Amino acid sequence: MSVTQRLTAIKAQLPDGVELVAVSKTKPESDIMEAYESGHRHFGENKVQDLTAKYEHLPKDICWHFIGHLQTNKVKYIAPFVHLVHAVDSEKLLRTLQKEAAKNNRIINCLIQAKVAKEESKFGLSFDDIEILLAKRDEFPNVRISGFMAMATNTNDEEEVSKEFAAVNNFFQKHKGGEIRELSIGMSGDWPVAVEQGSTMIRVGSSIFGARNY
Ligand SMILES: *Cc1c(COP(=O)(O)O)cnc(C)c1O
Repeated sequence: MSVTQRLTAIKAQLPDGVELVAVSKTKPESDIMEAYESGHRHFGENKVQDLTAKYEHLPKDICWHFIGHLQTNKVKYIAPFVHLVHAVDSEKLLRTLQKEAAKNNRIINCLIQAKVAKEESKFGLSFDDIEILLAKRDEFPNVRISGFMAMATNTNDEEEVSKEFAAVNNFFQKHKGGEIRELSIGMSGDWPVAVEQGSTMIRVGSSIFGARNY
């Protein structure tokens, strides 16, 4: 199957209101253009350098999602154009986003990353720490916190994954309203479970573009 066929097949299975971010990290611009020509506009990257290069070369109506861990010293490179920063995991990063968004005279949309996986290595904040950040929202007028993002434990145990997504969905439902309306959960291996558990945005790479060799 082609990139377009795989993309279309996934989109056909998504309920209304669930957006697909095509994760094009490590993939050539020609793959992105194939998806673009089929009408797709939302793409995700996790390296600042790759994202800025692709932004420069590709059509300007693409909505670029930054999905990885973002270092504060690199915010300035993507601040002028990024559509949504998925994984804000510290107040320091929020402050930097505020500063760079203000410099660019724009509002940057972001999601706060919740930590729900069992693995120690995963980034993200506890629900308590997210609530502390939400309480300070007024200090960041150029940042719009649109919701939450999470990654489940990388396991075949579907019940565990479902439980982790349910936990973040529960937190999302509690805070939903106003600007908080997105829940970014679900990747190639677990998006159907994520959609069952209230996802509004899935981030799918290898199921569209094929396996990555890093
Ligand atoms: C790479 C990546 C994805 C997509 O992963 P696939 O398993 O290829 O679908 C989604 N979210 C984040 C944060 C990623 O880094």
